[in-house]
Amino acid sequence: MTSTKPHSKDLSVYFTESAKQRDNSPLKSLMKYMSADPTLVSLGAGLPHPSTFPLGALTTLVAQPGHTLSECAHPPATSIQVNQPTSKTEGLERFLQYGNGRGVPSYSAFARTHTASVHNPPYADWDVVPSVGNTDAFVKALMLFCDRGDTLVVDEWTYPAILSTVGPMGIRVASVRMDAEGAVPEDLDRVCGGTRVRVAYMIPTAQNPTGATMSLERKRAVYAVAQKHDLVLIEDDPYYYLQFGAYEEPAEGVDRLRGLPGLKGLIPSLLSLDTDGRVIRLDSFSKILAPGLRCGWVTAPRYIADKIQFHNETTVQQPSGLSQALVSKLLNEDWGHSGWESHLLRTQREYAVRRDVFVDLCREKLKGLAEFTVPQAGMFLWLRIVLPPQLEQREGIMDEVFARMIAKHVLLVPGRMFSARGVDGGPYMRAAFSYASVEDLGVAVARLREALLTFRQEK
Ligand code: PMP
Ligand code: PLP
Repeated sequence: MTSTKPHSKDLSVYFTESAKQRDNSPLKSLMKYMSADPTLVSLGAGLPHPSTFPLGALTTLVAQPGHTLSECAHPPATSIQVNQPTSKTEGLERFLQYGNGRGVPSYSAFARTHTASVHNPPYADWDVVPSVGNTDAFVKALMLFCDRGDTLVVDEWTYPAILSTVGPMGIRVASVRMDAEGAVPEDLDRVCGGTRVRVAYMIPTAQNPTGATMSLERKRAVYAVAQKHDLVLIEDDPYYYLQFGAYEEPAEGVDRLRGLPGLKGLIPSLLSLDTDGRVIRLDSFSKILAPGLRCGWVTAPRYIADKIQFHNETTVQQPSGLSQALVSKLLNEDWGHSGWESHLLRTQREYAVRRDVFVDLCREKLKGLAEFTVPQAGMFLWLRIVLPPQLEQREGIMDEVFARMIAKHVLLVPGRMFSARGVDGGPYMRAAFSYASVEDLGVAVARLREALLTFRQEK
């Protein structure tokens, strides 16, 4: 079937010099002859002989889709094995061998099918390319369009790794004001009007650190500003599936999880609005399988995905073969797309419960001591610490707040670590409700209360 979707706009005119010059690595370019002709005897690529690989079948336990491993006594966890090729995945030998920067085909094929089904990008020539997670993917997307002296647009509070990446590269940041839904489109417009910028970085779901989630209307407005200024949007969306919808007060007999969005009710991504091909979407398995796998993928117009492939070929090559083998086997064969969806729903539920427990606790125990907007997704609560008026403006007061929390054995992240303006972090602290046990969330909030109450005794 021929696509009636438009072709992406060509933004390659904005490529940095290094991006323009990035090309297929010469040796990798010969690999196509190996796959095209099964009778070919290759004396080409210096592939190590597979008989020297001391690794045989790769076997692991996996949870039943829709259950955590600890719930898997009934039904029990199953054992999956990567060994010989099957109709759905390559054999282990193939995963352990060199390939090109597009990854092992079955891994990328899963990412492509999943992206088509969830985001259905509205232009024709999109493609995926594997990444070693969104940290890796961000740098590669950035380097296509930003050089020393250029400016990246970010939210006024943003993921610190971004600031640590651009700083040493001599890339400046321009920050956009945020509200409860993330970047304010009018302010994005103002920032782009004042400085020559090419790229804006956004975390549309469960923004790190504020927890803000963009509504569909907000995404449309941001996209319109991007069109007006011909911006590239880097959509870093590792929390996309962890959407919970609005918070409901606890009430007798009410199932607070009945309104979970599942997969059908997820807020459409920027990619799904991208008629021009100006969004570089970064997906990661870190929060939905495990961060140590170091696996993700980028979705972008093919000419951009190609450049990231070439960059992969001179850096990581591709995600670890063992990781790709596990992900591909699990998702293509053992769980399949429907099992994967059950797993996403189970994960969404887990964090929804935690959000509700943590928000209930904070509303009860931190009344008058901290304020917050309830996050509709993700892992973070962004607390505005309320201090007695005589202390609010005191120099270094938030360092003192941090010190007293530590003294009470509870750790939050000071707001200044997320500040894109390099100024102090205001009265903010980020609390992650993702990792502590549900019981310890209660311990943490009680300690937080004790730490903050110590300021009430001061004159
Ligand atoms: N350096 C040299 C000299 C090589 O021959 C090769 C592999 N052909 C590499 C680096 C790439 O090594 P790695 O697989 O560890 O990235
Ligand atoms: N981007 C954001 C917004 C994050 O919050 C994180 C993890 O904390 C990452 C990227 C890192 O993701 P990955 O493990 O895929 O590199």
